[in-house]
Amino acid sequence: MSNNATYMKLAIEEARNASWPFGAVIVKRGEVIATAGSGDGQDESHDPTAHAETNAIRRAASKLGSGDLSGTILYASCEPCALCFGAAWYGGIKKIVYGTALADIQSINKAWGGDLGFPHEHIQEAGITFEGGVLKEEVLEMYKSHPRVKASIS
Ligand SMILES: [Zn+2]
Repeated sequence: MSNNATYMKLAIEEARNASWPFGAVIVKRGEVIATAGSGDGQDESHDPTAHAETNAIRRAASKLGSGDLSGTILYASCEPCALCFGAAWYGGIKKIVYGTALADIQSINKAWGGDLGFPHEHIQEAGITFEGGVLKEEVLEMYKSHPRVKASIS
């Protein structure tokens, strides 16, 4: 299994066990330094910025004792929203790998996805490389079977 797939599986597990179907993992030189889900019980309750990615970024910075996360890779089950892309950029993260695109999940439940992302050309201009579609089918499977998604589309 490729490294991307290994870390994406971790992100999927985080998402499966969280209140919301989003998971993230931060890796530095092959070592997992933070994992998080969106609403995984370790984040601040009632914090609308506590997404899987921002949670993982906070935990990685805490672990490293620095807000400089350059040299790390952010893995996210879903394409990060504009908030999370911004947080990654502020942290100096230069590579982001994700499973589903926001457009993929928007076709399942309209409220999440779509235009919440950041234009890809701006991300590239900011010097961040990204790769989408890693284990996309597995992410979609997790997403569709997540209780929060089932409740939102029933
Ligand atoms: Zn986000």
